[in-house]
Amino acid sequence: MRNDERIENALKEIYVRTVERNEEFPELDGETLSELQKKEYIDGKTLTEKGHERAKKIIRLHRLAERLLHDVLRASDREVESSACRFEHVISEEVEEAICTLLGHPSICPHGREIPRGECCLRGEEEVKSLVVRLTSLSPGEHGEIKYISGDESTIKKLISLGILPGKRIRVMRVYPAYLIQLGNSQIAIDEKIAESIHVMRV
Ligand SMILES: [Zn+2]
Ligand SMILES: [Zn+2]
Repeated sequence: MRNDERIENALKEIYVRTVERNEEFPELDGETLSELQKKEYIDGKTLTEKGHERAKKIIRLHRLAERLLHDVLRASDREVESSACRFEHVISEEVEEAICTLLGHPSICPHGREIPRGECCLRGEEEVKSLVVRLTSLSPGEHGEIKYISGDESTIKKLISLGILPGKRIRVMRVYPAYLIQLGNSQIAIDEKIAESIHVMRV
């Protein structure tokens, strides 16, 4: 493993444990620790702001790669994991934005973990260029395959209770006065807020 990779993986581990999960600082070997310290990524057992930013970036790349491999390339779970771990170290900033835009600026990885926002997400690029779009971008008659769902807890619960889940095919029947969608053999009416929480790839 390249030295950079070792440092990046250590940063990722520190971030996931201490920031995301509120757990103890991980056990790391002395060499890695002193290097992290030398690069000013940590100060004792705390991530510095620089370390925090660097870690967030690597995690973002890892989870974007997961989404790409999982949603578009339909890789197996094992392949998703091993490839994402390699991708994260080599994706350039331009490719990162291209992937993020292509996927519709996803907010969660296939494991349900948060993808840190990038500049492209904050700029809010139009979804027209995206491969994965909100259901509200589809016109009546169009089909999509659900890639992921987003929103607050009550929205997610509602979607799940309606059987609106990743992997299912959906068809927009009507968009006014409410959204009417076809899911399997049933037709379901949903409001716009719910429709916006469903992210699909046109099929
Ligand atoms: Zn993941
Ligand atoms: Zn983005």
